[in-house]
Amino acid sequence: MKLQPLRKPAVKRVLVCAILLSMPVRSAAPPPVPQQNLTARLSDNPRVRAALDWFASNLSWINEQQVRFTEIPAPPFQEAARAASVQKAIADLGLGSQMDNVGNLLAELRGVNDKEVVLVSAHLDTVFPAGTEVKVRHEGSRWLAPGVSDNGTGIAALLALLRAIQFAHLKPQRTIIFAWNVGEEGEGNLRGMRELVEAYRSRLKAVVVLDGSGTDHVTTKALASRRLEASITGPGGHSWSDFGMPNPINAMVRGSVRFINTKTPVNPRTTFNIGQIEGGTSVNSIPHAVSIKVDIRSESEDELTRLESALRECIAAGVRDEMDSSRDRSRGPLEWKVELLGRRPGGELSPESPLLAALRAADEYVGNQSRIERSSTDANIPLSQGIDGISIGAGGGGGGAHSLQEWYDPAGRELGLKRALLTVLGISGVAEEKLQ
Ligand SMILES: [Zn+2]
Repeated sequence: MKLQPLRKPAVKRVLVCAILLSMPVRSAAPPPVPQQNLTARLSDNPRVRAALDWFASNLSWINEQQVRFTEIPAPPFQEAARAASVQKAIADLGLGSQMDNVGNLLAELRGVNDKEVVLVSAHLDTVFPAGTEVKVRHEGSRWLAPGVSDNGTGIAALLALLRAIQFAHLKPQRTIIFAWNVGEEGEGNLRGMRELVEAYRSRLKAVVVLDGSGTDHVTTKALASRRLEASITGPGGHSWSDFGMPNPINAMVRGSVRFINTKTPVNPRTTFNIGQIEGGTSVNSIPHAVSIKVDIRSESEDELTRLESALRECIAAGVRDEMDSSRDRSRGPLEWKVELLGRRPGGELSPESPLLAALRAADEYVGNQSRIERSSTDANIPLSQGIDGISIGAGGGGGGAHSLQEWYDPAGRELGLKRALLTVLGISGVAEEKLQ
């Protein structure tokens, strides 16, 4: 796999400066601060402690927000109503927010250093189509509803972070942008995050994605994937009287058999799946058209490129085989194409990144252990561009994501919120002055 460029020394210098600026001034040139001391120093700050304490006393407010947002449907490309509801909640706090031109909702917390930005985001969309029942049911300690955890948890947590910081009058060193973004799921193709990274690229120092529940993982490795559609069309005809004419389904079968025999490496792990097939009109017709949808994933961008080329070559060869064996070419040849439906680029966070150090320090402070994960999330976009990014759960327990049985349990939510806040403040830095 192609590793992302390592963190540039300049970024490290700036971060160390940001940390130092947030420390009490002792002498002209204080020694560099080891990362593990980062949260210790942060939590020495009474305003940071006030923000951390805010969560415990406001859990029921946070719970109410999560239920309310979950019960507003947000199918792919239809996130506007949910975004408007979050916008109203932000306005109720007396804070401003704005919608960008793809539908992301943004609230800015200006830092002492506005030339550098930390982005914290939670996706608004769900995988569920319009008409899905999204009312939250309670069963024991569990809440049940499609989207309640992914990403009701992240959406509510992001609002809670904003409110805790406001409550404690915390002013960050680097500007923090809170973004409730669109288009994370499926064919949304990460369009909300693409827009955010594009908009802030020159100032963007780190991205923290809050996605789903739990505190057991940190996604620092972005799984690259591509989604493709292969189609073959032809003149079509009658199964008896036109026998011998080229048949698009035959060609697709010939091509698909070649494709599924393609060897993929175990390491870097690489997978493919023909997930959908469509075509034909009736059992006694030579079809006009057929198409398949193919998902390919790999730990290596090079392997993806290789598999995508293999798919094109195999479909072309399938068409060629079918044409060669056809007896009647009088009504024209078969046509084929392979189109890219979506693409999620891969990447990895450097193990020495200050963002990972901030997360590890936060874990240590709250007494949490988390494992590194590779997954496909909004963090794919910054990571693929050499910008530090992670995706973490926002606390509590959850399961059944992307299914109608999805559930959430708010027990332990506070730990996840503290972990997220300390990570964000660890990378943004905290100013000496008070937020007005
Ligand atoms: Zn999600």
